[in-house]
Amino acid sequence: MKVIVAGNWKMNHGPRETRRFFERFRPVVDPERVRLLLFPPAISLADAKDALGEESPVGLGVQNFHWEPSGALTGEVSAKMASEAGARFALIGHSERRHLFGETDSETALKVVAAKRAGVMPLLCVGETLEQRREGRLEEVVTRQLDAVLCSEAGVHLRKKSTDTGTIILAYEPVWAIGTGQTANPQDAADAHGLLRDRVSATMGSTFAQAVPILYGGSVSPENTGGLLAASDVDGVLVGGASLDPESFARIASAAC
Ligand code: PEP
Repeated sequence: MKVIVAGNWKMNHGPRETRRFFERFRPVVDPERVRLLLFPPAISLADAKDALGEESPVGLGVQNFHWEPSGALTGEVSAKMASEAGARFALIGHSERRHLFGETDSETALKVVAAKRAGVMPLLCVGETLEQRREGRLEEVVTRQLDAVLCSEAGVHLRKKSTDTGTIILAYEPVWAIGTGQTANPQDAADAHGLLRDRVSATMGSTFAQAVPILYGGSVSPENTGGLLAASDVDGVLVGGASLDPESFARIASAAC
């Protein structure tokens, strides 16, 4: 499985800054070993696609979308629209969507179905808050977040389209590590990723589970990438703040080689 290095720009880099980013982004990676993904704001997708050109090894994704294909939903975009603008991937259930905007488990399942229908690869984020971790509820929380998708209609869609390259990407993103500078240590990441892999195996079967890349996200930096990627079951990283600067994100990509 290729190592995935994904960048989530959140609400940063409009169309002009997106073009400037790609003028300076010169990652040195072996495309056979590392897959680069970037999630710009939806309004910058078309500029990102244009700046990257046709043959680019960088995959683009949308940070959020509505599960309906179209309709009277002011301010929303659909997965199909994002796909038309260049998105091949979609973040679903990011902790900021769950905790700041009230995205529910059942909405994440609807979004996975919508992404699959639009031909976009879902990247489902799960993770516990500091309070839940302290209460020893990590397994309960991530199991609930995973089961909401895998044991619903979304699971049927994922199973139907199962191939040896997988049909969904998962990210373990402990909420307490996002944007705080407090990274999970490699052993904690390995333990949580092991739990996720076991749960996917129990619900979808072991062949499916082995093909699912599980990324770690939460204060990833050029300095800690190597250690995190050396941990078992960590198949890549999802990077927020450190993906905004082209040199820093390129250094993270190189650390993954
Ligand atoms: C994220 O937004 O998914 C994230 C992990 O952010 P940061 O790297 O800034 O913690």
